[in-house]
Amino acid sequence: MPSTTADIAATVSGAREVFDSGATRPLAARAAGLRALRAMLTENEAAFEAALWSDLHKGSGEAQLTEIGVVLAEIGHALRHLRRWSRSRRGPVPLGLWPARARLVPEPLGVVLVIAPWNYPMQLLLDPLAGVLAAGDTAVLKPSELAPETSALIARLVPAYFPDGTVRVVQGGVPETTELLAQRFDHIVFTGSGTVGRIVMRAAAEHLTPVTLELGGKSPAWFDDDAHLDQAARRLVWAKFTNAGQTCVAPDYVMTTPDRVPALVEALGRAIADLWGSDPRASADYGRIVDERQFDRLVSLLDGTNVVVGGEHDRTERYLAPTVVTLSGDRPSVGPDAAHPVLRDEIFGPVLPVVAVDSAEQAVDVVNAWDKPLALYVFTSSARTRRLFEQHTSSGAVVHDAGLIHVAASGLPFGGVGASGMGAYHGQYSWKAFSHLKPVLRKPLAFDTLRLAQPPFGGFGTRL
Ligand code: NAD
Repeated sequence: MPSTTADIAATVSGAREVFDSGATRPLAARAAGLRALRAMLTENEAAFEAALWSDLHKGSGEAQLTEIGVVLAEIGHALRHLRRWSRSRRGPVPLGLWPARARLVPEPLGVVLVIAPWNYPMQLLLDPLAGVLAAGDTAVLKPSELAPETSALIARLVPAYFPDGTVRVVQGGVPETTELLAQRFDHIVFTGSGTVGRIVMRAAAEHLTPVTLELGGKSPAWFDDDAHLDQAARRLVWAKFTNAGQTCVAPDYVMTTPDRVPALVEALGRAIADLWGSDPRASADYGRIVDERQFDRLVSLLDGTNVVVGGEHDRTERYLAPTVVTLSGDRPSVGPDAAHPVLRDEIFGPVLPVVAVDSAEQAVDVVNAWDKPLALYVFTSSARTRRLFEQHTSSGAVVHDAGLIHVAASGLPFGGVGASGMGAYHGQYSWKAFSHLKPVLRKPLAFDTLRLAQPPFGGFGTRL
């Protein structure tokens, strides 16, 4: 049920009261919060799986791998490292300030708002939460209204597992989120589209609230590894069609040289059949499109393309087969000026364009002609080509010979750059994003060298 304006204000002030009480600061309380989150997941796995199935036709294996498992790994990582992260550390002091001592003392920020999208409705809400709890903050969670079962389940479970009000949930869509954004937070983590990201950042500016924006865009892939064609194709289709392509870091399109297009297309077709069978609609492991609006958008993207694999669709089920397309024309342009929307807009669904470019260098130019992507995938056996992409493009991350897997590495920062986002989270990077590293200095009064910095200078300036 959507929350009212008064509910929303009370929810946020309630979270602030808990924070101000100091209850979430001790390490023991942070660890207890992380364990409560873990219990919420492990004791309700079946309910989470059912909700994810209902919202997105996410099968149990995929739900475990990409949602429940990812969050549990993040919690485990935080529990293992929490003590080390939270230690205050010695800070350097320049000679001119001696004698003096400095420490860097991490402190929690306060109340963190987490706004999540629908595509990984559990992971993208609860992964940041693990960092919020580790940092000793309190949280207000805003799950996506487009994943209603998962949203309702989280709203029901959170009060039971966090009866002290450390974590609170506000359900709803645009009006509720707008109301939430009018409140003051100490940090906002937003995952979603660039358009809404701008709205969030504007609202945050009113309160000078720092933001972490996890946005989207077109993540490119490059393929030239003839020796590992089938393996690369398997990894490409897995990365692309997991969650029916509704993944922010899914390869949006794959570039290769014109002579490789036929073999790559065939290999992609074989790999799709290997992973989801000859009729993916019957596979318990193949997802559905979140709603009719997205379904219609994706199906209309196929107009004017050559569908070379898949293309079957059924609106009643919101089923769109894993689909590979090519574009007519010698070298179709990719980017903001592309003639076809499939090469211009983020696809965010199970449609993979294979785009012919003359060389890896030209692929680099394609990437650079445009917004910086969230991820870049390179399938090559050439170290020189790997370096070429690493050194001459900018993206949230680069992964060689695979897709998506960097999301599961809690030790690595996850985030975009430029239009694909700002700030990063996961593991220690979450903890950092939701903490303030406060320098604390002490200058003993006894040996008063500060006198040298105080007037009258007698004509001699003193440099510290
Ligand atoms: P979205 O931006 O439409 O919605 C995200 C959240 O914002 C939802 O909770 C929604 O209720 C809220 N919202 C929507 N419109 C709003 C408005 N006008 N004012 C205030 N709040 C509003 O995104 P989506 O459709 O849920 O997700 C798809 C997008 O998210 C894609 O662009 C995708 O690439 C991106 N994404 C990024 C990541 C990442 O980690 N970088 C992960 C998943 C998805």
